[in-house]
Amino acid sequence: MYFVFDIGGTNMRLGVSPDGETIKESKIVSKPDDFGQGVLTLKKITGELSGGEKIEGVAGGIAGVLNHEKTALAKSAHASSWAGKPLKLELEKAFGCQAYLENDTAIEGLGEAAKGTGQGKGIVAFINIGTGIGGVRIVAGKIDKNSLGFEPGHQIIVPEGNLCTCGGKGHWESYVGGSYLEKIYGQKGENITDPQIWDEIAKYLAIGLTNVAVHWSPDIFILGGSVSRSIPLEKVQGYLNRFLTVFPQAPLITKCSLDDDAGLYGALELLR
Ligand SMILES: [Zn+2]
Repeated sequence: MYFVFDIGGTNMRLGVSPDGETIKESKIVSKPDDFGQGVLTLKKITGELSGGEKIEGVAGGIAGVLNHEKTALAKSAHASSWAGKPLKLELEKAFGCQAYLENDTAIEGLGEAAKGTGQGKGIVAFINIGTGIGGVRIVAGKIDKNSLGFEPGHQIIVPEGNLCTCGGKGHWESYVGGSYLEKIYGQKGENITDPQIWDEIAKYLAIGLTNVAVHWSPDIFILGGSVSRSIPLEKVQGYLNRFLTVFPQAPLITKCSLDDDAGLYGALELLR
């Protein structure tokens, strides 16, 4: 039995797989603020899901920037008490097997590339638009090599622009991320109905995608996350086609297909 997880800002999605291919049982629980309590919760729920069967491998993603060795969170806006704690080591102690850690958006993109919209595509750019913006470059079914992960949400699209939670200014997510939409337009993304507002958001989204496209040269864009469900894709594609003048054609922008399970399938890929 394998244990896979996707730990976000507030919730943890946990699952078990008997064959490393399919998710047999999964459950969402709220994430304890305390790190020690978090590890205990992971162990307890996994015991329930697996019916006490021996766990032979553990893999999953967590929101935040991991250290270079991918053994702990280096920095996180959501889980400050988890930052710097030896998560990989504690998981290996708790389950008595190897554990693999990744950034949450990275495993979600890996899942979409392997089992979702990105199947058969060589280079996938997965962009997650939730509270903020995360992203990952997947090449031939693997997370592309990187030093400290991918953070396309923190590219500057407006000089000296909106203040970002990371401390920077004018970052992409501070124009398109869900928490910023609420600040800028006074309502949650899913409640925005004014087509003019969506046009403006689509334009900002397309500016960032243009920058990602010229650096990552993807075959396809896959958008995930809560805000991506409300965004008029045809508008974004229209702007991207207009802005991306250097290539003969712009990559197709698509929506993710695995939704909330993408991270668990990506974690299974990590175990391979
Ligand atoms: Zn930022």
